[in-house]
Amino acid sequence: MIEIVFLGSGGSIPTETRNHPAIAIRYEGWVLLLDAGEDVQRQYERAQLGLNKKMAIFVTHVHADHVLGLPGLLLRFSLLGRTKPLNIYGPSELIEYVKVSQSTINLGTTFETTVHAIGPGKVFNEQDLSVRAFEVDHRGYALGYEVTWARSTGRFLPAKAKEFGVPQGPQWRALAAGESVELEDGTMVSSDDVTEPAPKPLKIVYSGDTRPCDTLRKAAKEADVLICEAMYTTDHAVLAEERGHSTAAAVAELAKDSGVKLLILTHWSPRYHEGEEVIGEARPIFPNSVLAHDLMRIRLRKDGTATIMNSSGH
Ligand SMILES: [Zn+2]
Ligand SMILES: [Zn+2]
Repeated sequence: MIEIVFLGSGGSIPTETRNHPAIAIRYEGWVLLLDAGEDVQRQYERAQLGLNKKMAIFVTHVHADHVLGLPGLLLRFSLLGRTKPLNIYGPSELIEYVKVSQSTINLGTTFETTVHAIGPGKVFNEQDLSVRAFEVDHRGYALGYEVTWARSTGRFLPAKAKEFGVPQGPQWRALAAGESVELEDGTMVSSDDVTEPAPKPLKIVYSGDTRPCDTLRKAAKEADVLICEAMYTTDHAVLAEERGHSTAAAVAELAKDSGVKLLILTHWSPRYHEGEEVIGEARPIFPNSVLAHDLMRIRLRKDGTATIMNSSGH
């Protein structure tokens, strides 16, 4: 199972109930953090994500609302004695930002911190998880991220194994585990020969801040979960264009066109308070739309079913 935890669902100005953008993805001892807005350290604690986890941070762009929390998070980890190395990925300006934070506010860390300047392409691959960055259309250089979870090979088919002449026993187990085996006569049988085709990887896509654009549309194609900014509603479409953001209606259209399964709207302007207008605009176009809220969790199971839980974890 993979879990998505919204640490901050706000945009530009945090409100009483919504912090700056930050989304954690948990999977088998890993925490991937997408953006690190202000107060991420306290939200991280509230969500009980754990101190010394294997972790990587992916920053979409260096606008303040997406990075203000990074020094605080590093400080917290240091004060609590984190030891595992931490890799941070994002646009090249991030290197300077972290370096200046470390030198000017005495932010030494108890663990190795590496900042990687990245562009579009695959940037992370561990266990069954991989992350690909893609460029989006915002003000200045900005990225979105596609997180994929590769599912193991399909079901082992004993009848097929018999057909290939593989004797029942350890070789069946090896094939079922995805390995190839060599028969006594030297024939190689691969796992693919005797298992159902592996299911498609599950896909979670995060837009960062962007106008609706082709790279996002492409990444979002058949995504299991699309997390997208929806800064404005259509009555502020001009403002959305000027400031490089999306409207809820445009995002819902994009989700519909791309065959997305579940759309989560986040980063809406504080002018919409609890976001009724935002979700009200998206749902008639794309019914499976949900408004993010802080500490909301989404559990994505291997079979692709998603369960949304409120902040208390139920
Ligand atoms: Zn933003
Ligand atoms: Zn921005």
